[in-house]
Amino acid sequence: MHFDNSSCNGCDIEVLACLTPLYDVERFGIVNMGNPKHADVLLITGPVNRRTARVLRNLYEQVASPKMVIAVGTCASSGGVFHNCYNVLGGVDKVIPVDVYIPGCAARPEAIIDGVVMALQSLTEQRHLWVTCPHCQTEHEVTDQRWRI
Ligand code: SF4
Repeated sequence: MHFDNSSCNGCDIEVLACLTPLYDVERFGIVNMGNPKHADVLLITGPVNRRTARVLRNLYEQVASPKMVIAVGTCASSGGVFHNCYNVLGGVDKVIPVDVYIPGCAARPEAIIDGVVMALQSLTEQRHLWVTCPHCQTEHEVTDQRWRI
């Protein structure tokens, strides 16, 4: 799920570019979700300000564990150009834990896809499922390969 904290929208356009036919992340099984309860990964752009901090924490708590948080762009990583503004708290990690930081102003789609892949690799290690084979009744370890962002 993509959430715009309070960015200038430069990073948001690059996130959207990942969904266009040019980059087409859906071919890797990555689907953008509108509901945090259906997402595995929270993709955040922009710095945290006093108004969005509560919303961000609320969204984070609604994403089921195991989950990953990706800070997209310099602002989401550290506050960036908005650092020390009167209403800005700083990067996303001032409010919720961040797993992957993607630098850049704006972060390039290639870097965003790279960061998402890193997060999904880490999620894959955490999310090994055990299913019982209906034929031999033994348990097999499988990995969920579809991801909702
Ligand atoms: S990192 Fe740059 S492009 Fe991204 S939100 Fe901040 S100012 Fe805008």
